[in-house]
Amino acid sequence: MMKPVDHFIQVHDLVKTYADGGRSVSAIDQVNLSIDDGEFVTIMGRSGSGKSTLLSMLGALMRPTSGKVVVDSMDLYSLGSEQRADFRSEYIGFIFQSFQLIPYLTVLENVSLPMAVTGLKKKKMDMAMAVIDRVGLADKHDRLPDRLSGGEQERVAIARAIVNHPPLILADEPTGNLDTDTAGRIMEQLASLNREGHTIVVVTHNPEMEAYASRNIRVRDGRVSA
Ligand code: ADP
Ligand code: MG
Repeated sequence: MMKPVDHFIQVHDLVKTYADGGRSVSAIDQVNLSIDDGEFVTIMGRSGSGKSTLLSMLGALMRPTSGKVVVDSMDLYSLGSEQRADFRSEYIGFIFQSFQLIPYLTVLENVSLPMAVTGLKKKKMDMAMAVIDRVGLADKHDRLPDRLSGGEQERVAIARAIVNHPPLILADEPTGNLDTDTAGRIMEQLASLNREGHTIVVVTHNPEMEAYASRNIRVRDGRVSA
């Protein structure tokens, strides 16, 4: 038998069916796809087509009804829940549309949150400050999120996603609520992370994001067309 090609991410016959009251909703329906190390992939499709569901399963956040997600040769949903949590913290930076910042923690505290508890406090703070500086918020590191604009909150979410230097960054509509200029800066940040070798998968409605991407995946009614 020929040895199959190993992609960074491989999705096999993925299915997710939600139980919604009495009926079942087929959100992802027999999806197969692969993504290589270093790619910048956009996922597009109408609201309700299954994009967020697919991204959650790529990110080891939600167990599929059936099928497999294999990342770097690890079959995510055959791992135990503790191993899967380790996988998430080591491999993945998440950027959610609604930022998901903790309102009563400062920028610095929000960004430090996913960092492992071990290690020197000073060193941790320095690492967190380095990514805060990178997204241009060093002078605002001690602010609470409600003292930041939407674009600034998005940049905090990016800083938090990259603080552990994960190889894979997953973003769900990161420019969804931003004006054109701010959205452009967020796209530039993602593109620069991609140039440094991070694999990026972004759910977006923003057609300009496609210019940064190496490939676009379209989702329609839970199915993928390349
Ligand atoms: P998208 O991100 O493309 O808007 P989603 O992945 O959020 O789509 O949703 C895909 C489908 O699954 C939609 O029909 C949605 O209503 C349904 N859905 C999503 N989450 C749930 C849930 N927790 N329970 C029931 N149905 C859900
Ligand atoms: Mg969604």
